[in-house]
Amino acid sequence: THFGFTSVSINEKERKVRQVFENVADNYDVMNDFMSGGLHRYWKDELLKMTGVGPMAKVVRRRASLNYAANSDLKSGDGMNGKAAVLFSILDVAGGTGDIAFRFVDAAKCEERSKSSGSDEISVTVCDINPEMLRVGESRARKRFGSAILDETCALKFVEGNAQYLPFDDNSFDLYTIAFGLRNVTDVDMALRDAYRVLKPGGRFLCLEFSHVTNLPLAKLYDLYSFNVIPQLGQMVANDRDSYQYLVESIRKFCTQEELVSRMETAGFEGVQFTNMTGGIVAVHEGWKP
Ligand code: SAM
Repeated sequence: THFGFTSVSINEKERKVRQVFENVADNYDVMNDFMSGGLHRYWKDELLKMTGVGPMAKVVRRRASLNYAANSDLKSGDGMNGKAAVLFSILDVAGGTGDIAFRFVDAAKCEERSKSSGSDEISVTVCDINPEMLRVGESRARKRFGSAILDETCALKFVEGNAQYLPFDDNSFDLYTIAFGLRNVTDVDMALRDAYRVLKPGGRFLCLEFSHVTNLPLAKLYDLYSFNVIPQLGQMVANDRDSYQYLVESIRKFCTQEELVSRMETAGFEGVQFTNMTGGIVAVHEGWKP
């Protein structure tokens, strides 16, 4: 039947995506630099700027220290009312090896504060369907920030889960990010609805994803690069042509900037808009849960 066929192809996609990211987990970060000529760092930095997390962390800290001044029983660095309060919680879905989450931790200087106070005003949760990617991410986090941030303060967490059925309560997060993840999800609309569910009212959704190039000469060059060069590079560097062929195809099949806007609106988001970067090679979509 038609339904039988659909469900087989969905499972097929899930299996394929899992296989791809298991294959690439160990090389993932090197290959990202290699394939994008380092551009992915710039795109991720821009995403971070849009979240405002760096400047916001300062405001939160200032509020906490004003609170401290008003109540001399509190130790410096304690959260509001002397409790280790998390004032801003971030969920990074399809967070893989932690690139986006680490930018939040750096911007908010979570690890410095956790050393001095044992409390954190910002918490970052990385959620990914693939345990291999999470394993690489956790070990990078330990090297980069030390283990306390994972084991003691829990300002940074790695959680296995599917974007379509997130293992979190309704209204849990202030910010939801997903970078180069949405196109890998089998049912994009379901992932958007679940993003909406876990965000608090007033929470913000930000998606960084490959999109559709808007400028014709650039589109031609980009086609040439992605169909000819990328699978070849995948073969040469990682001995894995198929995974990188999948990467290119999944980018082509993914919806346009405008389609994603309307799908986000259907999921309930308000104030939906997008910003193209590098001529539309990638775009950031944002929306708010009212
Ligand atoms: N966000 C990271 C970054 O920008 O470097 C990783 C992006 S990587 C291209 C895509 C990630 O999506 C992989 O780690 C993969 O395991 C994850 N993924 C694929 N399908 C998923 C799903 N249904 N739910 C959660 N994560 C998923």
